[in-house]
Amino acid sequence: MALNGLQIQKLLPKTNCKECGANTCLAFAMKLAAKKANISECPYASDETIAVLGAENEPPVKQLKIGGEISTLIGGETVLYRHEKTYVNDTLLAINIDDDSEYEDTLHKIVDYKLERVGEILTLNAVAITQKSGDTEKFVELAQKAWDITKLPLIIRADNTDAIAQVAQVVSNTGSIIAGVNKDNADALLKVAQEHGMILAIASENLDDITALTKSLKAGGFNNMVMQFETDSLATAFQLNSIARIAAIKDNIKELGYATLKYINTGNEIEDTVMAINEIEKFGGICVLPKFDAAQLVNLMTLRLNIYTDPQKPIQMEPKVYAIGEPDRNSMVFVTTNFSLTYFIVSGEIENSGISAWLVVPECEGFSVLTAWSAGKFSGSHIAKFIKEVDLETMVDTRTISIPGYVAQISGELEEALPGWKVSVAPQEAADLESYIKAFNRK
Ligand code: SF4
Repeated sequence: MALNGLQIQKLLPKTNCKECGANTCLAFAMKLAAKKANISECPYASDETIAVLGAENEPPVKQLKIGGEISTLIGGETVLYRHEKTYVNDTLLAINIDDDSEYEDTLHKIVDYKLERVGEILTLNAVAITQKSGDTEKFVELAQKAWDITKLPLIIRADNTDAIAQVAQVVSNTGSIIAGVNKDNADALLKVAQEHGMILAIASENLDDITALTKSLKAGGFNNMVMQFETDSLATAFQLNSIARIAAIKDNIKELGYATLKYINTGNEIEDTVMAINEIEKFGGICVLPKFDAAQLVNLMTLRLNIYTDPQKPIQMEPKVYAIGEPDRNSMVFVTTNFSLTYFIVSGEIENSGISAWLVVPECEGFSVLTAWSAGKFSGSHIAKFIKEVDLETMVDTRTISIPGYVAQISGELEEALPGWKVSVAPQEAADLESYIKAFNRK
């Protein structure tokens, strides 16, 4: 459990010297508890206090970087429920490939897979390789191909530790993961992981086994771990993920403060999908799917995007001038905010009308039109300033700009701030844009 202000105050010098900028040590302790200050701002804090509060600032679920050239983070979570603050890192999605299969086509599908949702490009995050052939040469060949084609981190699974050691040389220092680590092979695989900068996935269906091994590895100085819960039961997977996360966040049990890795292969497509949904919704770190299935992925990726957006930050578009269709210098010019949903609704309606146009999207902190206007982020002067910054006047000869009907009141201010421009007020509802555009072009 995080320390509160009073507990932190007991660790401070209590001289109220004010050198940290706070009037009292208690006030500074309150700022530390709220994560609005850093202990380094107190020059008189003891080494012991710095150590305690430094550890205190570590997230209860250890954050790890996965991958090399293409990297991403897992773990780092601080809350059980998204609405308490935010989830930090997405559940990563990986595809498993067996070394006795025809895999080249799948590798290309993995690297080519891209799904666009509300302006974000969603992709697969890792390739899991499993030794089924019993032939180490074949396994190493698969690892090499998987790395050469995708440049994604590998999750390596084999019964033969020597085969894992050989594959580790192929993906040395790429932030790859060795799966299936247990008390019998831990010593051998730890050496491989240390030599090649890899992560160990501690595997068991039993939390006591996992706790014992994470504890002993950490005591030995190795802390790059994930927990691999080995079960095909949906209920057990749900329970294990939940118990581990609650233990880490509520009870501060460090031995369970790691992200998870889950292989899914129930033999039934629907059950696999439900298991994957459970991982995304219930604290899963990395979810390995048994095969590449675009229909399954589109659903999982969309769910993941919805769960892992930050509720404190609206989904935003990059502020810039967007070309809708193939606009030229005389095409219509529209303006809206950079809230993604607003952008996609407006750009979709412009597209539906069959014309090409320019859509100016200034920085509005991801607010919708009326919210941005009432927060002073979508005023006439704000829009005019952005238009000058992006040099729109050299891009187009058009000198009429259409503003959303909900902010008709800014038209005078915008015309004043943009000499030579005429402001036209579009409808309040985007659904009425098509008839507005038709009427506009009949003038
Ligand atoms: S600098 Fe340290 S000792 Fe001085 S008031 Fe701040 S917390 Fe207290």
